[in-house]
Order: sequence, then structure tokens, then C-alpha cells
Amino acid sequence: MSKRGLNSSMESSSWEHFLDRCKYCKNRIDPTRDIYMYGDFGAYCSVDCRAKQMELDERAKNRKNKSTKK
Ligand SMILES: [Zn+2]
Repeated sequence: MSKRGLNSSMESSSWEHFLDRCKYCKNRIDPTRDIYMYGDFGAYCSVDCRAKQMELDERAKNRKNKSTKK
């Protein structure tokens, strides 16, 4: 049994894997279409999903700001 090339192939497949599914709706991203990137290694299938994720992040931020103000 040979372990030659095992690590490098695992690394590349995990890198591709996170671009595989939309971070918001978890749908498979069609590799022939555009991939929308946002945030920490986030990949999204559409502008809508990305915008919704941005909205969630903004809300989380605002909630934090409000709670620290009072
Ligand atoms: Zn999506």
C-alpha cells in the first residue's frame, strides 16, 4: 500500500469541496455557472443567496452594537 500523493489530493479536494455547495441554501453550485464569493471562504450559488447572507451578518452586527450601547 502506498501513501504517495494522498495528502495533496485530499487538500485539493477539500478546497474544491467548500466551493461545491452554497453556504446559504446548501444547494450544489453548478461549476459551469458563476460562483459568488463573500466573507470567510463563503461561496454562494446566486447573488440572492449572497445578499441574504450579508443581510444576516448585518443584522447580527447591529444586534451586537445595540446590546453594547445600553
Ligand atoms: Zn444558494
